[in-house]
Amino acid sequence: MIQIENLTFEYGAGGFRLRIPEFALGYRDRVAIVGPSGSGKTTLLNLIAGLLTADTGRIAVAGTEVSALSDAARRRFRAAQIGFVFQDFALLDYLSARQNILYPYRITPALTLDDAARDRTETLAAACGIADKLERHPSALSQGEQQRVAICRALVTQPKLILSDEATGNLDPESKARILDLLFAQASEVGAAVLAVTHDHELLPRFERVLDFAQFREGTAT
Ligand code: ADP
Ligand code: MG
Repeated sequence: MIQIENLTFEYGAGGFRLRIPEFALGYRDRVAIVGPSGSGKTTLLNLIAGLLTADTGRIAVAGTEVSALSDAARRRFRAAQIGFVFQDFALLDYLSARQNILYPYRITPALTLDDAARDRTETLAAACGIADKLERHPSALSQGEQQRVAICRALVTQPKLILSDEATGNLDPESKARILDLLFAQASEVGAAVLAVTHDHELLPRFERVLDFAQFREGTAT
């Protein structure tokens, strides 16, 4: 699902530099990313999703080299293939929770907003415990509720790759486990791979592999 070779990326000359010699994520793999704050975890997810472009090396997602696509093609590719739960949620406050969840359909002509998508919105919201909050706007939701809206939005299109950036960060332990159950259940249903940044070490045994970003610190990469 993901193949990375000799990746380097730098935020401007002298800025933070990420170097990943090799990383592969298989179809249906479930891999957790851990590592200190500021070690480049979010940067890597943004590179994989094509929101940032690598300086050198190769990132292929589902066999497509993301950096070789035009901006428009990359946007379409992301919308069709990737569900991204952003660390800061990235919800739009002028839209209701329901409209936020269905937002990918608004901006992506290739996705058709049909009854099935509307039904999935209800099902996902119920599974996340926000079924009665769908008409509210993000500013009228708690952090944990906003986070669950962001999770529903990432899953509603049934993507083949789920990128999750601290998706359980603002939740109580019981909700954390429930959200991870939901992510994994969705992934199983559509055969998706999951790459999830998490600080919740109690959740790590549920992943097949853990990628520790401590190893990518400049000068120490192997
Ligand atoms: P993590 O998600 O592991 O906490 P990030 O990938 O967000 O780390 O950030 C890695 C490093 O890159 C940090 O030192 C951060 O300050 C820096 N950084 C992040 N975004 C930018 C940006 N847009 N411009 C310049 N530096 C950035
Ligand atoms: Mg981060």
